[in-house]
Order: sequence, then structure tokens, then C-alpha cells
Amino acid sequence: RSSAEKFEFQAEVSRLMDIIINSLYSNKDIFLRELISNASDALDKIRFLSLTDKEVLGEGDDTKLEIQIKLDKEKKILSIRDRGIGMTKEELIKNLGTIAKSGTSAFVEKMQTSGDLNLIGQFGVGFYSVYLVADYVEVISKHNEDKQYVWESKADGAFAISEDTWNEPLGRGTEIRLHLRDEAGEYLEESKLKDLVKKYSEFINFPIYIWATKEVDVEVPADEDESSDSSEGEKEDEETEKGEDEEEDSEKKPKTKTVKETNYEWELLNDVKAIWLRNPKEVTDEEYSKFYHSLEKDFSDEKPLAWSHFNAEGDVEFKAVLFVPPKAPHDLYESYYNANKSNLRLYVRRVFISDEFDELLPKYLNFLKGLVDSDTLPLNVSREMLQQHSSLKTIKKKLIRKALDMIRKIAEEDPDENTDKEKKDVEKAGDDEKRGQYTKFWNEFGKSIKLGIIEDAANRNRLAKLLRFESTKSDGKLTSLDQYISRMKKGQKDIFYITGTSKEQLEKSPFLEGLKKKNFEVIFFTDPVDEYLMQYLMDYEDKKFQNVSKEGLKLGKDSKVKELKESFKELTKWWKGALASENVDDVRISSRLDNTPCVVVTSKYGWSANMERIMQSQTL
Ligand code: ADP
Ligand code: MG
Repeated sequence: RSSAEKFEFQAEVSRLMDIIINSLYSNKDIFLRELISNASDALDKIRFLSLTDKEVLGEGDDTKLEIQIKLDKEKKILSIRDRGIGMTKEELIKNLGTIAKSGTSAFVEKMQTSGDLNLIGQFGVGFYSVYLVADYVEVISKHNEDKQYVWESKADGAFAISEDTWNEPLGRGTEIRLHLRDEAGEYLEESKLKDLVKKYSEFINFPIYIWATKEVDVEVPADEDESSDSSEGEKEDEETEKGEDEEEDSEKKPKTKTVKETNYEWELLNDVKAIWLRNPKEVTDEEYSKFYHSLEKDFSDEKPLAWSHFNAEGDVEFKAVLFVPPKAPHDLYESYYNANKSNLRLYVRRVFISDEFDELLPKYLNFLKGLVDSDTLPLNVSREMLQQHSSLKTIKKKLIRKALDMIRKIAEEDPDENTDKEKKDVEKAGDDEKRGQYTKFWNEFGKSIKLGIIEDAANRNRLAKLLRFESTKSDGKLTSLDQYISRMKKGQKDIFYITGTSKEQLEKSPFLEGLKKKNFEVIFFTDPVDEYLMQYLMDYEDKKFQNVSKEGLKLGKDSKVKELKESFKELTKWWKGALASENVDDVRISSRLDNTPCVVVTSKYGWSANMERIMQSQTL
């Protein structure tokens, strides 16, 4: 078209499209759920705006918040249309080509190593999956504040935008037309599309229709010649069958007959009843799992590690479904201190409000997924005002409690976690599925728990219960503080730990000599964050934490030390004098060593040697 304006795709986007087009990825189905998910997002947006301004919905069919799928077998076009918010010309240019999302290059990288396109939606570039099945795509869009435009591209590095003067006016919303590649003919099969929508878009909260063929019975005038045979004579001969014959006759009597005819009509494909409104007892594990995958645009087979579905009552009423994902997202800790983005979707009375609501969960629980649907929050106010609403505090508090309970349960139900339980209980059915789940949780999200201990004083003890680590007695496995306490020696008052870069390095530490000899257990903390953690975690169940490389280590009464102190009094004094210039505070006899003659110990309130190292390299 001569009037079209031409644009080049941003470089990363162009690379991404090349990869998609040339991909040998076999699961091409994913494009459909990406388009439906975009349509659903666009519908959420217009519905949200309509809360404060009814006018935005327009009138007639435009008020119907729905998604429509249509096939044109002859022209090989599949179109998906929504009555969502639509895109202005500028948005078409930005959203579909010129602005690369933060996830674009991350996804390109991942694609090159794994070739797995399944997670495309999570990286915010799901739209481009259309080029798995189409070689030419048109996006027709009408936003309330602009004219109707067409975006089109053959994925050859460029796209064009034109004011739409030839298609039917959309009223409002977006229609995506996929000109399917020859080898993608299966997406012109109605049954295939119906199956896909049912499989992937079960939890979309807007009706999805397909323009479907419908076999209908039509009454047409009956053919006179066939209508009756001359059986008068037979009837008289065979009296016994008379009755039956009479019946047949009466059926044939009407002068019309029914034939099958093919019509088209909109067929509804989904049931829009939100899963979170249902009674938790009636929702199956499989349904939760599927719901999680659709929520997260993650269509791998991995089940969420845990979930919690509850109904909070009282002053503040809300329903929530929380999930612990099977894996941490690629950027979970990347911008931890800058980004404060909760991953919960907030609904108010079934209306989607936002998935960027900071006030629902504290930062350290950012890894949780799910949604909250509140009956208490007001609907007709801006996001900013909602953000300040007093009931959010209560919601947050309850969500944290439920989240920590849910995580605790992963451990409780994991036979690997609680060996006593395993001995006592007869092996329960299903237990095996839970085996090792807490270790999995810990490996993915343990750092979040540690950050929680640092940040959330009110829940510090609950979080400390969830802590796992290795120790001199854990035998290469993870162990907990409760288990440590259960193994404490008689008379042992403190919980001993040591910090460093690796377990291997720490095992050789002279600081452990005396403790090992006396059979005390020592925790290994080898993550840089552990140093910070231990500045906040002072005690647990009335036991104090003692860094064994620091001053103040008490290993019970030891009369020998007293003796030694006396006999080495002069030497200690001499050392003290000799080292004064080296910033040594004190020189002492101690029982912490066995073979090594001496070690440098840090003062009680100073940084440990490991912390000095961390601060120097600034690894956190
Ligand atoms: P994401 O949905 O994660 O943002 P996509 O690549 O799927 O990423 O879509 C890119 C953007 O294009 C969306 O964020 C949205 O702004 C816009 N968009 C895509 N489809 C539609 C649609 N049907 N209606 C309105 N905007 C859309
Ligand atoms: Mg999308």
C-alpha cells in the first residue's frame, strides 16, 4: 500500500523473529494461547478503565467483553479478535516492534541454548510466536483515542502501519489475522482450535467464541415419490404385523422430511467461572496445576511445588490462591533491591486490577505466584488510591502467614525432611511424590527465606524454622535448626556456626578443631548473604548463635584452660605487647584449637574475616 509508513524492527526483536521463524520447535500450538492471553489482558485493561468511566465501553456489541476466533479455509486466514482496549498507532509501533522488552535478549539467549519456546510468554514477547505458524500477519486495532490502524509484517525485518480505510470498523479492540504457512494447515481445523482453547485457555476470564460450523436439522418438503410404498395388499395378508405397519405409516405421513444442513454460529468454548471462587475442597490437584500454568504462561510439565487456596473472612474479606513455582524465574534476585514487584494478581470483586501491586507481599516473597480477589477494597478508585487503602495491611499480613504455612507444609510432608516421621508412620500413599520437595524448594528459593529473616522481624522465628544448611554432622544433607537443637549436647547453650566460601574450605578450618574433638555440631554458612543473615538472627528457641571464629566461644567448663592460662600468663603478656602495633586487641588461651597453635579471632561485634572478604569483593 502506498500510504503505508514503513518501520524497522528493533535489532533484538528482529533477531528473535528470525529465531522463531527458523525454529524447529515442534509445539507450534503455543501461539494461540499467547494471542488469547494478549486479548484477555486487553479486555482486563478496558474493564478496569470502565470502573471509573463507563463511557469507555461504548455501546451495543462493543460492550461485550469477549474474544472471537474465526477461520477462513479458502484464504488460509485464522483471526483472533477481542473487544479490549486496542492500540493507538503509536502503541502499535512501540509494542509490536520498536521497543524491545527487558526479557527480549534474555529470551533470545535462552532460545539459543535450549530451543524451547514454551516460556516465550514469561519473557514478555509472546506476540512474536505468531510467526511459528504464519508468514504474514496483520494486526488491525482501534483504540478509543485514535483511528483504526493496520500493522502488518512478513517478518522480513520491517513492518508497515497504515490508517485502515478498507476493513470493517472494529468499534474497539484488536483483530490479529494470521496468514498461515502451508505447513500450518491444521490450524484451519475447527476441532484442532477448539481442543487448543480448551487445553490452554481454560482459565481465561472472558468468554471465548469460535465461529463454528453447526450441523442443523432442517425440515424440507418431503419427496412425494418416496413417501409411501404401495403396501396395501401386504397389510391385508399379514395381519399380525398390522399394528407395526400402521405405526410406520403414521411416521411417514407428514409431507416434510429432515435433512442436515451446515450453518455457522458462535460457539462458546470456555466456562468463565473463576477457579478461586470455587470451594477449595472441590478443586482437584490437576486443576490447580493447570491453573498455575495458565496464570504463569508456563506450559512445561512441572507442577507447582505447593499451593494454598483460602478464603479470608472478618473485617477484610478476600479469596486467594498462592503458588510456589517449581523453579525460580531467571531474574528473581537480579534487581532485588530496586524492583519491588509482587507477582500476585489483584482482583476486586472479580475484576482484574493489577499485577504490579507492591503492597500485597513483602519483597522477599516475590517468588510466589497467584492472585488475591478482595471484596473489601473499593472498585471505583484509582490504583494509587487502592495502594494506600487501609485493608491492604491486613491482607498482606494474612498472605504472609498463609505463605509461610504453605512453605512449612512442603517440609512437613516431605519424608526426606523428617526421618522420625518416616520411621513412625506407615508409608503413606502419595508420600513419594513429596519426597525431596523441600530440598528442591530450598535450592530454588532458600535465599528468599534468608532475605526474609533479615527484613521481616515480625516473622523472623517462623522463617528461621524454614532455614536449611549443612553442618559438621549433617552428612552432606540439609538440616534445620530444630534438628540441630535436637542433637545438641547436654549442657550446650549456644548454636555454633562458621562462615566462609565453601564447605570444603570450612571443614579444614582450625576453628573447628576443638569443637570437633568435643563432638559439638557446627553449622556451615557459605552464602555471602549468610553473613548479613547472622547479623539479624541472634537467637532461636532461646539459644544464642555463636560464630566459632569470633570471641566469646564457650565450650562448657574446662578446668585445663584455667590451668593453662595461669602457666602461660607471661607468654600471653609478651605476645600482646609484641602484636600491639598489628591492631590485635587481646591475646588469649582458649580451648577452641586442637592441633593448630594459634588463630586470629574476631571480636564479638566486629566483622568476621569472611565478612571482610565479602565487603572487599562486594558480592552482594
Ligand atoms: P506481553 O503480553 O507479555 O506484554 P506480548 O509480546 O504478548 O507481550 O505483547 C506485546 C504488547 O503488545 C502487549 O504488552 C500489549 O501492549 C500489546 N498487545 C498485544 N496484543 C494486544 C491486543 N490484543 N490488544 C491490545 N494490545 C495488545
Ligand atoms: Mg502476551
